[in-house]
Amino acid sequence: QVIYLNGEYVSKEDAKISVFDHGFLYGDGIFEGIRIYGGNIFKCKEHLDRLYDSAKSIMLDIPLAYDEMEQALIETIRKNALRDGYIRLVVSRGPGNLGLDPKRCPKAWVIIIVEQLAIYPEEAYRDGLVSVSVSQRRNIPDALNPKIKSLNYLNNILVKIQANLAGVGEAIMLNSQGYVAEGSSDNIFIIKRGVVYTPPCYVGALEGITRATIIELCEKLGYSLKEEPFTLHDVYVADEVFFTGTAAEVIAVREVDGRTIGGGKAGPITTHLLGEFRKTVEVDGVK
Ligand code: PLP
Repeated sequence: QVIYLNGEYVSKEDAKISVFDHGFLYGDGIFEGIRIYGGNIFKCKEHLDRLYDSAKSIMLDIPLAYDEMEQALIETIRKNALRDGYIRLVVSRGPGNLGLDPKRCPKAWVIIIVEQLAIYPEEAYRDGLVSVSVSQRRNIPDALNPKIKSLNYLNNILVKIQANLAGVGEAIMLNSQGYVAEGSSDNIFIIKRGVVYTPPCYVGALEGITRATIIELCEKLGYSLKEEPFTLHDVYVADEVFFTGTAAEVIAVREVDGRTIGGGKAGPITTHLLGEFRKTVEVDGVK
C-alpha cells in the first residue's frame, strides 16, 4: 500500500504524522471518502468541491490547487493498482504547538490513502439492515455546520457506539428538535405511497454525494422526491427505508426500533434505485 503524504509517496509504515498535528490534537481538519469504480473516481468534482468548500469555511489553506489534488488522487490510485476501492483524503491543519491557535500551524498536511472496501455483504442489500434510533443528537447549524466534513467525528462516533451496543450496522440520529437527521455516516431516505422523502440538509445532515446522486436518479426515473423534515413516526410507518453513503451505497433497512419496515426486506423502489445507482457508477468520473 502506497500512501500520499504531502507530495511524497510512502509506504504504510512510513506514513506518519506529528504528535503536534492539529488534526490529531483537535480534530482540526477536513476529509473526504471517495469511491473508485472500475478505475474511475466516482463524482470526483463533487467531492473536491465539498472538500474545498469545507476548507474555505474553516479558513484552512489547502496547499494544492484543485487540479493538483485531482492528479494526486489519480497517481495514488495508479501506484496502488486499484480498480475498485475507497479513497480517504485528509487535509489536516498540520503540525503546530500545543495551543489550539491555527496561526501556529504554518502548513496544512494532505494525506491520501486508498484501500479495498466491502462494508456490507451482498445479502444485506437484499435483506435490509436492522437499525435503531439513538439518543445522540445531530448538531444543526447553531454549532458546527454539518455541511463541513470536518475531522471532528466524535458525535458520529458516539452514534456508532450506540449502534454497536444495539448490535446494528447503522443507527438513526435525530436533531435537537426531534427531526430525523441522518445516520452515523449515511444519509437517510424513506418511501411512503410511492413518494421518496429525505430530510433537507438544514435539519442537520451532510450534503451527501450519494444522496445527491439518488435525488437525480429519482428525477430521471420519474419518482416523486420531497426534501422535507420527518420524524421517527414517519420512519416506522414508511413502506421502505434506506441509507445512502459513499461506502454503503444504497442499503435498505428492514427494521427500525423493533418495527418491521414494509415487507421486512429491501422494497421495490429501493431495489430499483440501487440497481440504477450501480449502473451509473461505472461510467461517471475521471480515469
Ligand atoms: N453523513 C455523514 C455524517 C457522513 O459522514 C457521510 C459520509 O461521507 C454521509 C452522510 C454520506 O455522504 P456521501 O454520500 O457523500 O458519502
